Amino acid sequence: MTGKIMKFKVIDLKPDIEFKRDLEKLSGASLSTCMQCGTCSVVCNLSPEEKPFPRKEMVYAGWGMKEKLIGNPDVWLCHQCGDCSTHCPRGVDPADVIAAVRLLTYRQYAVPRFMGKMVSRPSMLPVAILLPVIIITAIIFMAGTLEIPDGPVNYSKFFPHAWLNGSFTLLTLLSYGIASIGLARFWKDISMQYHADPGFKKGFFRSLWKVKNEILTHSRFSKCEQNRSRKISHFLVFYGFILLLLVTIYAIYAAVTGRYPLALTNPFKILGNLSSFMLLAGLGMMLFSRIKGGEELKRSTYPDWQLIVALLFLTISGVIIEAARFLDWSMAYYMYFFHLVCVWFVIIYLPYTKFGHIIYRTVAMTFAFSVGRNQGFSEDQEQHAVQKPILSSH
Ligand code: SF4
Ligand code: SF4
Repeated sequence: MTGKIMKFKVIDLKPDIEFKRDLEKLSGASLSTCMQCGTCSVVCNLSPEEKPFPRKEMVYAGWGMKEKLIGNPDVWLCHQCGDCSTHCPRGVDPADVIAAVRLLTYRQYAVPRFMGKMVSRPSMLPVAILLPVIIITAIIFMAGTLEIPDGPVNYSKFFPHAWLNGSFTLLTLLSYGIASIGLARFWKDISMQYHADPGFKKGFFRSLWKVKNEILTHSRFSKCEQNRSRKISHFLVFYGFILLLLVTIYAIYAAVTGRYPLALTNPFKILGNLSSFMLLAGLGMMLFSRIKGGEELKRSTYPDWQLIVALLFLTISGVIIEAARFLDWSMAYYMYFFHLVCVWFVIIYLPYTKFGHIIYRTVAMTFAFSVGRNQGFSEDQEQHAVQKPILSSH
């Protein structure tokens, strides 16, 4: 002994047992059975060579290291194909564990927090339904039209277009505006998880521009070996929804300029019907893959079902209210009200539901691209070989 005092780096481990329990409950996985063999990372076609996932995430999960998982962009590079779960020798199901982390992530960053809890918990479903029912009723009441109108079906007599478009646009902007505070925190946290080479870092907008190709082509889905058909169903739902949004924006414009309702032969009406067909086809494929059982059914969580059912109800009720207007169906206004509640669930609740993946995944992928952690991205593959950042050890 020389008398020198040896200094060791103290690793700041903060196990969060509650978080670990939540992960196990949501994923159904027994985290302590993971033997950290790394097979999951080896078989994952989307994982970078440097600091691959999901093995390290399984280590963090096993230790309940919440701060290493929430705000971890790698969690969002996973597309839940299930290849890792299929090959896991201990049947731990890392794909579901990573999915549970994603769920807890957008619950964590939800602003206001109660919205995240209300929308993502089955026990809170009645409250999540009651909120839009009360607010929509109150708006129609304020418009002075809270009764079933006489005569041919005319939805604007029940909910005047100005009130409908004004209130829903305002509420959507409010929801997204407040939710963006959480997204800014998410960006800050994922930035802190990485020590990227400053010389490598690319700008946000440049990275976002590159990432858009991944999102528009769904190319990362093609790299999964299991469940390849998920790409088609996701593709149909994604583009069906985008088309529906565009048609809705045009419908608002048509209402403002007095051109509403649209004739059946109007190109936007045709596009609207096409988007309904795409949504129904995509959702039908998703439902079928679950109903036939197997891994997809086992892997489905409440947020998965909630999104599928909400989109399905939205699309079907949209088709019914359109038919009800032409057929002068007496129940049309009740169905219209139901449709508005579905619109609320899908559009206004978007940042708090599984649909929020669109935003969180885009942000995480943009970050990954900006720091060069873009293996598996169809563009700039060569950049990956240049310089790669490392995860911080804290
Ligand atoms: S989750 Fe499974 S495959 Fe991955 S490290 Fe643990 S035991 Fe191995
Ligand atoms: S689910 Fe698929 S993408 Fe996600 S970690 Fe496992 S193998 Fe990789």
